[in-house]
Amino acid sequence: MNNTKMELHRLQSKIKGRIILPEDSEYDSAKATWDAATNHKPAVIVEAANAKDVIETIKFAGEEGQKVTVISTGHGPSRAADGGIMLKLSRMDAVRIDKDARTAYVEAGAKWARVLEEAAEYGLAPLMGSSSDVGAVGYTLGGGLGWLARKYGMSLDNVNYFDIVTSDAELRRAARDTCDDLFWALSGAGGAFGVVTSMEIRLMPESIVYAGNLVYGQEDAGMLLEKYIEWTESLPDEMSSALVLANFPDFPIVPEPLRGKSVAMVRGCFAGNAEDGERIVNDLREWKKPVIDMWSKIPFSMADTISNDPKDPIPVTITNVTIDDLSDKAKAALLKMTFREAGYSPILFTEIYHMGGKIASSDRSESVFAVRDAKYVIKIMGLVPAEEARRFFYQAVTGLRDELKDELNNEAYPNFLEGLEKFSHPGRLYPTETLEKLGRLKAKLDPDNMFENGLEIVPVP
Ligand SMILES: Cc1cc2nc3c(=O)[nH]c(=O)nc-3n(C[C@H](O)[C@H](O)[C@H](O)COP(=O)(O)OP(=O)(O)OC[C@H]3O[C@@H](n4cnc5c(N)ncnc54)[C@H](O)[C@@H]3O)c2cc1C
Repeated sequence: MNNTKMELHRLQSKIKGRIILPEDSEYDSAKATWDAATNHKPAVIVEAANAKDVIETIKFAGEEGQKVTVISTGHGPSRAADGGIMLKLSRMDAVRIDKDARTAYVEAGAKWARVLEEAAEYGLAPLMGSSSDVGAVGYTLGGGLGWLARKYGMSLDNVNYFDIVTSDAELRRAARDTCDDLFWALSGAGGAFGVVTSMEIRLMPESIVYAGNLVYGQEDAGMLLEKYIEWTESLPDEMSSALVLANFPDFPIVPEPLRGKSVAMVRGCFAGNAEDGERIVNDLREWKKPVIDMWSKIPFSMADTISNDPKDPIPVTITNVTIDDLSDKAKAALLKMTFREAGYSPILFTEIYHMGGKIASSDRSESVFAVRDAKYVIKIMGLVPAEEARRFFYQAVTGLRDELKDELNNEAYPNFLEGLEKFSHPGRLYPTETLEKLGRLKAKLDPDNMFENGLEIVPVP
């Protein structure tokens, strides 16, 4: 970085937050994210305390010609920062609920946990995903596929406005009701256009749901997959679910009955009358008694217990494919990739999310988000403590992609993509004409590509 200490002093004097440099003792912990496999190496870290700090930092980055990597809560596997400024927003974590309007104002560094807890006091629920430890804004900018999605749509379908600081250091409001292009672009391609400092979202009148997991042994996985496809054919939109093929590692954080085991599970959440939910899940129970049955009536505030995602950082990588028809060939390929006949499997989870419902029927013209028609999104996750494990994982995924090249859709779901893959393949996220429109907007709002680290949207003059 060419700037002198004096210039950084000047920035520090203008902001309430703090600047951390590689020589500072907090540098390593400040740049660490949940995805322990990504090693960010920013030249400067700025921990913003408020939107004014963001404005000053972006002004500084513009003057100094620096690239900016935005980190809200660090749960997104983002492309590793190499130099430039890492702008951290985790201190900006205010949440305000308006119970009458059924909305929440959420700052960029707030995790879903705060929104969930405060909304629950009024019998309301946010459209969070599998873990309340994830940042609400980062999750929403990439879509937001959660346990209420088939009933209410993606998280981005329920945003009223985003506040954003663009590369010219202007704080703008992009609102749904003004139908502006910036709102459209942020709703699915958020990371490319600036720093979203806050958003207002709609909350849903859900307090009690019927949710959980049915766990079957690996030997039942093939039959369960057949049954699951039949089951999802007639599900009401109140039911959002996934089938998981899992190889649980032999780690102390994994609860005893699952530790070191390979299993198949049906997990989900029914947001309606609990008795109706129970009747629907009974169809699976009657098909075959599970080894473990955890579906029950729970407050939505306990939605984390559905997936039980780890909170501590772990070295993982993630990708996804989408498909409409889980043919016999597709089912066999998924089983073969996840459960190898011999040797260690590089796959931790293959999670087949049932889409449709409000995800498909929400107004498409309001967002750039493109994964509306896929019947299933298949998230594939691997544990990658070393480069060799990462290679082994991608070899397995490439094998699946090659084998199913005629059956898979072209698109991928942004939030379930590893940072470099998301960066390198924008064509998997948006159709060509959408990318062109995004490029024209990029040329207007970020012509020098200050925010290149989130998504590769090439400015189109
Ligand atoms: C345990 C776990 C469970 C998850 N479950 C789900 C799930 O159920 N459904 C789902 O859809 N996703 C899920 N995700 C994915 C998650 O939603 C995304 O990775 C999301 O980007 C995380 O948000 P964050 O604020 O932590 O991102 P960060 O790591 O802070 O940021 C990631 C990238 O997003 C962009 N970005 C983030 N915040 C901003 C901002 N304020 N302004 C501009 N750009 C920004 C930047 O490009 C940044 O590099 C899960 C992730 C984890 C780790």
